[in-house]
Amino acid sequence: MADCIFCKIANKEIPSTAVFEDEQVIAFKDLEPQAPVHVLVIPKKHIVSVGALQAEDKDVVSHILCDVIPKIAKEQGIAEKGFRVVANTGAEGGQTVNHLHFHVLGGRSMQWPPG
Ligand code: 5GP
Ligand code: ZN
Repeated sequence: MADCIFCKIANKEIPSTAVFEDEQVIAFKDLEPQAPVHVLVIPKKHIVSVGALQAEDKDVVSHILCDVIPKIAKEQGIAEKGFRVVANTGAEGGQTVNHLHFHVLGGRSMQWPPG
């Protein structure tokens, strides 16, 4: 989608530090990391948010959660100690980029509840 920063990253119009990529998905380091490991995992297809998911998106979302995030967690060395997966959704959910993304955060203890 034009003017979407994460579509531009998926299309390599904006550089990013990718840690994983396949046909459906790209994962890259967050520009402003909030933990020692902070990776964003996005579908290459422009989907606005969790709130906008359709039945046709089941494959890519399950691929992200079942395959891609566990692989990244292992490779980044956070699988054993634990990590956090966050999908901020909508304005009150704290979403600032309106292209579905899963934050993968690890390498330190996380607090709860979030702010
Ligand atoms: P949200 O606030 O929507 O949950 O998360 C958006 C995330 O995208 C933020 O953590 C922010 O640091 C990250 N971000 C925004 N623009 C860029 C960018 O151009 N490159 C990268 N790598 N991360 C970005
Ligand atoms: Zn997009």
